[in-house]
Amino acid sequence: MILKLLRPHVRALRGYSTARDEFSGTAQVYLDANENPFESDLNRYPDPHCRALKQRISELKGLERERIFIGNGSDEAIDLLVRALVAPGQMIITTPPTYGMYAVAAQAHGFSVIEVPMSVDFSLDYDGLAHADARGGVLTFLCSPNNPTGGQLSRWDIEQVLRRSNGVVVVDEAYIDFAAGASACTLLKEYPHLVVLQTLSKAWGMAGARVGLAFGDPHLIAALSKLKLPYNVNALSQRIALERLADTELYAQQVQRIVRERERLTSELSKIQTVQAVFPSEGNFLLVRCVDERRLFEALRMQGIIVRDRSYDVHCSGCLRITVGTEAENDRLLEAVRGFV
Ligand SMILES: *Cc1c(COP(=O)(O)O)cnc(C)c1O
Repeated sequence: MILKLLRPHVRALRGYSTARDEFSGTAQVYLDANENPFESDLNRYPDPHCRALKQRISELKGLERERIFIGNGSDEAIDLLVRALVAPGQMIITTPPTYGMYAVAAQAHGFSVIEVPMSVDFSLDYDGLAHADARGGVLTFLCSPNNPTGGQLSRWDIEQVLRRSNGVVVVDEAYIDFAAGASACTLLKEYPHLVVLQTLSKAWGMAGARVGLAFGDPHLIAALSKLKLPYNVNALSQRIALERLADTELYAQQVQRIVRERERLTSELSKIQTVQAVFPSEGNFLLVRCVDERRLFEALRMQGIIVRDRSYDVHCSGCLRITVGTEAENDRLLEAVRGFV
């Protein structure tokens, strides 16, 4: 079923075969890849399949390796999904206000976007999504917890969309580590047209290494792997990711601190006169509606504090998106917002 959703030329594509594809195992002399033979940290090409990293992710997530794609950030997975699935005349579906990369990835290939805005309370418009599917939307992007609103979709929400979609449904879980609710990964076996995105950029603290994850049906994952550039995750990133993924204690500790601070910021910001609403968040950021957000943005900037202005997004008038920082950083933010008149 999933094979039918792939573009025919992608289905037919034979991926590039690297020197390291044609020989796996270990040898004493490598004269197969035109590398510089003088050993240093980086003279060899990286593993094109991220085998060691994939094994570790497989253990951490409880998913088979065939269901795992590792990309140069989840942004690469978004781009590859568009390339694998959307044909000229077809469209992607987004649910604004949401992450901007979905639309950019589609538009960069000349595809249009059907926007099915969430309602004012940031719940999904299921009928609107089904209608968009009928109009030629073949790739739907949901984001949970959603950037910038912070809300997490329930299993029921996601299944509603999956049941009524004839295309592929992506659930972007970049912020899942901070959320109370479960990952949509538990739905993968039941719904082959579901793809879940996660990343090492947020909770794992590796935004600079650019390592993103996509989980899905093995056929679809194989298609993404054929489409990607052969050495999409460089050797340094693979090595560092593997190192960091060993320290689950540090990870858990940091997530816990960030979640605790998120709750403190929510409660403290809500007490401030110029703050009209702090939306409940399952991520590591808060969407905050304030009186005169433009002036507050500038006032914060003057004090060296940069936040994100989201007031131009659907249903987000007056809203700033504020990332949860360290305890000391959050204290500085609170002091600055309290002093704003
Ligand atoms: C930050 C973020 C990502 C992460 O992208 P990477 O390319 O993995 O760094 C993905 N999706 C959303 C919604 C995000 O906010």
